[in-house]
Amino acid sequence: MQKLGNYITGNWIEGDGDGQLLYNAVTGKEFASATTKGLDFESVLDYARKKGNTALRKMTFQERGRMLRALALHLMQHKEKFYTISYLSGATKIDSWIDIEGGIGNLFSNASLRRKLPDEPFCLDGDPIALSKGNTFMGHHILVPKEGVAVHINAYNFPVWGMLEKIAVNLLAGIPAVVKPATVTSYLTEAVVKEIIASKILPEGALQLLCGSAGNILDFVNSQDVVTFTGSAYTGLKLKSHPTILGEAVPFNMEADSLNCIVLGADVEPGMPEWDIFIKEVKKEITVKAGQKCTAVRRIFVPGNKIEEMSRAIANELGKTVIGNPLNEKVRMGSLAGQDQRNEVRSQVQKLLASSQIIYGSLDSVAVLDADEKEGAFISPMLLLNENPFATETSHDVEAFGPVSTIMPYKNMDEAIELSKKGKGSLCSTIVTADPKIAKQYVLGAATHHGRILVLNEDCAKESTGHGSPLPLLVHGGPGRAGGGEEMGGLRGIRHYLQRTAIQGSPTMITAISNVYQAHAKGNDPGVHPFKKYFEELHIGDQIITEKRLITSEDIDKFAALSGDNFYAHLTATDFAGTMFEQQVAHGYFIMSAAAGLFVDSYEKNPVLLNYGIDELRFTKPVYPGSSIYIRFSCKEKTAQEMKEQNPEVPFVKGQDIPKGIVKWFVEIFDETSEAVGVGTILTMVEMKNKI
Ligand code: NAP
Repeated sequence: MQKLGNYITGNWIEGDGDGQLLYNAVTGKEFASATTKGLDFESVLDYARKKGNTALRKMTFQERGRMLRALALHLMQHKEKFYTISYLSGATKIDSWIDIEGGIGNLFSNASLRRKLPDEPFCLDGDPIALSKGNTFMGHHILVPKEGVAVHINAYNFPVWGMLEKIAVNLLAGIPAVVKPATVTSYLTEAVVKEIIASKILPEGALQLLCGSAGNILDFVNSQDVVTFTGSAYTGLKLKSHPTILGEAVPFNMEADSLNCIVLGADVEPGMPEWDIFIKEVKKEITVKAGQKCTAVRRIFVPGNKIEEMSRAIANELGKTVIGNPLNEKVRMGSLAGQDQRNEVRSQVQKLLASSQIIYGSLDSVAVLDADEKEGAFISPMLLLNENPFATETSHDVEAFGPVSTIMPYKNMDEAIELSKKGKGSLCSTIVTADPKIAKQYVLGAATHHGRILVLNEDCAKESTGHGSPLPLLVHGGPGRAGGGEEMGGLRGIRHYLQRTAIQGSPTMITAISNVYQAHAKGNDPGVHPFKKYFEELHIGDQIITEKRLITSEDIDKFAALSGDNFYAHLTATDFAGTMFEQQVAHGYFIMSAAAGLFVDSYEKNPVLLNYGIDELRFTKPVYPGSSIYIRFSCKEKTAQEMKEQNPEVPFVKGQDIPKGIVKWFVEIFDETSEAVGVGTILTMVEMKNKI
């Protein structure tokens, strides 16, 4: 029988003894075992910190992002192998797709985030803060990778996604991971880690794997590490209160079970598209992954006068679900992950039955296709009805981690909101309504208790990613019962692995540290006009101060005529009494255009390929005819761009793709009194001398 490997300290190592037996969830046959017995967990963490962290923290965000992309592409090439193994967990093709390709998609998404980050191992956070009248002292925030390791303790339901959605983020941030999947489905995680390690795409020490118990690993974590937990609220609380987690102030992110709900808006009637959308969404939530999703709908709230009809409609749809061996193409719902999980679901449903009744499905029997109902971990989808949802806490507290959901009536929107909150904090909630007023009332009323809210109606249902799908660019997590954690959410996610430090000093010092030009920092003489320099030749702080240009009333008239912008403030004929202005004032965009006329100097071709846009632009003082403006133009930030993939057979064709980067320029516009009248950041695309 196969014994799963643990990938630690650079080697695949089997634990001591027989280990925990792992079963094919569909046939009930044992086929592997897993154990971490005898492993030295302290050395696992040390190895990650010394090897993995040292290597990753030296890489820039761009390099780490490219590494994630390469990893995603590599795993895509091997995905069929993972599908084959995934069937052992009772997952259908669709279930496996969510787990495997959803996980790989997460790597791609995080890889793309590199475009929002600098080509540095660290980044700035937020806006600069002026701290002195004379502009010699300022503050900023810097984010640097922590010096530790991310320890991920995961649940059994998504053995691939659960790992990849987490490591994508810590690797982009620059810190290594030790992944401990739930033992029962760790065979699939092991298969993916084998591919990752074999690919040699990650630096050594960036990823280690433990298949089996987490042992005493938490005894050795420290404040530079981050521990994440996904699983039951019970285990989560135990780990969160571990003495080392508390004593060493170790960041701990918890994603626990939650009693997510869906609400049918009072406006939705049978026959409306939203009626069918609701039924479809509920069915999907009950049957996909056989309900083993942390986000699955556990509570269904429907206006009391429609509950009978809705219950019948949902039951009717559930009745069409073909359950059985996921290898059979007709099957739409597979099994639970194992017999223990089935026993657990049954015992939780028994608790729910104290206040509810089963109106569809059965606790004891289920018809299955191509499998044995008893040997495999099959269970029937179940719809429960609780007619008095305010009379009991059970329906709002007991999670049956399987294809089980309870339908409950509500009278008005206030009641629906109150019921949603009785879950004491959930990962997500959905409202199905065609009425924007109802949607707004629910979202604003229920948001405090939910990590994510989906508003479903006819407009978006077709393209909607659905109630149950956490997305890499949106936060995942929820308050209270859901663990109080937050992960993913694009750039928000990586901040969990970075130390945010306030830095104070002179603008010139902060520029030197951050490699981003700060207002009022000393500039450098670029020698030649900076537009004559290639990307590599430009230095942050390269600065020119331009000649002055007189702004005349005729200029303003011409700009109004040319642009068609005849806003009254730009017209001489206007009576300016009661306006913000004393007289005809120049258009802000004219001032910006005139600024460009001052800082762009060349009639000849130069390394600047094009104007890429404006990030920020503020007009801070009116410019009247007779004023003279001049510009301080400083090189603010540089980000190299990757070349589009080229066919090595085809010679590089100029114009198709050019080695280049984006350069941001800080533009300060002053008038004849040297007072700023405008400030902005413009972007140009600048050619590189050498291909990267
Ligand atoms: P679990 O029993 O709480 O286990 C979760 C993880 O904790 C597993 O890796 C488990 O390892 C580990 N663990 C258990 N006891 C431990 C200890 N004393 N020290 C260190 N690690 C320990 O949950 P599960 O049964 O795997 O997962 C199902 C639950 O997870 C459901 O309630 C579901 O709602 C929740 N869930 C939540 C989310 C979310 O994002 N919020 C996502 C998925 C699942 P072993 O497997 O080796 O015991």
